[in-house]
Amino acid sequence: MDKLYLVVPCYNEEEVLKETAKRLCEKLMSLIKANKISEDSKILFVNDGSKDETWNIIKTLYEKNSFIQGIKLSRNEGHQNALFCGLIHAKDECDVAISLDADLQDDVDVIDEFIEKYHEGSDIVYGVRNSRKKDSFFKRTSAEGFYKVMKLLGVDIVYNHADYRLMSKNALNALSEFNEVNLFLRGIVPLIGYKSDVVYYERHERFAGESKYPLKKMLSFAFEGITSFSIKPIKFISAIGFLIFSISILMLIYSLIMFSIGNTHPGWTSLIISIWAIGGLQLLAIGIIGEYIGKAYLETKHRPKYFVEKYLVHKEMLTNYDILKSETTINN
Ligand code: UDP
Ligand code: MG
Repeated sequence: MDKLYLVVPCYNEEEVLKETAKRLCEKLMSLIKANKISEDSKILFVNDGSKDETWNIIKTLYEKNSFIQGIKLSRNEGHQNALFCGLIHAKDECDVAISLDADLQDDVDVIDEFIEKYHEGSDIVYGVRNSRKKDSFFKRTSAEGFYKVMKLLGVDIVYNHADYRLMSKNALNALSEFNEVNLFLRGIVPLIGYKSDVVYYERHERFAGESKYPLKKMLSFAFEGITSFSIKPIKFISAIGFLIFSISILMLIYSLIMFSIGNTHPGWTSLIISIWAIGGLQLLAIGIIGEYIGKAYLETKHRPKYFVEKYLVHKEMLTNYDILKSETTINN
């Protein structure tokens, strides 16, 4: 029987955590009862440097319930790094892992379908939202626009798939081979290339609390995705540079002809406009090139992505199944 890990990154999630733990435990128990996963399966909460009670809640849950484990990052490293940390830890412990958000937006009930697809032989199963009705107009249009831009830029990502996905041990091992600092998991996972499948689900509203992705973080995440995976922007800039250079040669020839036939005017306006246009373009180009150089610089440094401060791992002999039999669940 396969051992499942549910990996849940948490940042300031005190309002939802207990409910999330309760629902995930119920789900694990039903899967165990149905003989779909092994009884020592776990829920792994990764506390991404929360400033509220999140870690204390995880500790209490861990003490009461042997399904639950916790990892505490020393500071806030962002969703992607927290998730990566959880998956890499799970890789050595489990046969299969599913990552999901702490806020119960990802429909917990489709976990059964994930497991089914895994049993059918998929190493990676992507959770895809079949509607975004519950998202705000802004979130919906910006997110869908983002997927379209990524496609246009030649980046292989799954449309409307966030980070709700199943990965087998093999896929996790492959993931651990990626050493990049600028993590964009939705771009990396398709690069693994193992057999994959898709599960459709309805995206719910956040159970409680606020989104931990304000506009600023969302934009930098989108920018991260594009600059980590596509060099088309820089190619585009080079193409414009080439075009402008060609035009300037034609202009040079034209002005030389005009000069030789004595038909010249003091062209202050056109001069000043071209100085501004070309100056602006050059700045833009330098900026974009700088972005890539910055990334290359960070990659060469191979900075550690996180430092784990503590691990919460059950040591006692009691198995999950004993607890299951005595019908101990967490309700508070
Ligand atoms: N998250 C995290 N670190 C961060 C921001 C978010 O671990 O710096 C977690 C958060 O706790 C949640 C998931 O990432 O489990 C997705 O965040 P959220 O639900 O706020 O994003 P949204 O659904 O609004 O895009
Ligand atoms: Mg959310």
